[in-house]
Amino acid sequence: MTSSSYDARPDRTDAPTRAQESRAQLDERFMQNAIALAHYATRQNEVPIGALIVRNGSIVAAANNRTVRDQDATAHAELIAIRDASAELDRWRLDDCTLYVTLEPCAMCAGAMVLARLGRVVFGAWDEKAGMAGSVGDLLRHPRLNHVPEVQGGVLADECGEMLRQFFEMKR
Ligand code: ZN
Repeated sequence: MTSSSYDARPDRTDAPTRAQESRAQLDERFMQNAIALAHYATRQNEVPIGALIVRNGSIVAAANNRTVRDQDATAHAELIAIRDASAELDRWRLDDCTLYVTLEPCAMCAGAMVLARLGRVVFGAWDEKAGMAGSVGDLLRHPRLNHVPEVQGGVLADECGEMLRQFFEMKR
């Protein structure tokens, strides 16, 4: 087939179809959803962090930080999303799921991700102060733990980090 006949195909568009979407594009699309959840958290006066869990291309759980609302130090977006996904799927193992979160997970959430056997974890901004997926330490990929998820960091990192920076600037 020549390139000209390819260009002339009537169904050709510049936008990739869903099937053609690369994993990187999918990651950015789901991270945008997590960013929307984080913006919602800001409006509730919560730290802007959003998380969602995806299985076979569908969102099975979505949450934002609720520490203030629940008056619960453990009410992190990732932890709530893991609980909701397990309830939705009626099983504690989430090895066929991907968790998206706007900020590198803390020790508690990284631990919960390992316990839930999450297949893949994708996060946005790095957290130099509490991140346990490479910044402060790497609990998420600790070689001695019995499960190591696939990890992708830095997806839409600037946008994810900027939300947090603005939030804390506002709080000062
Ligand atoms: Zn956490």
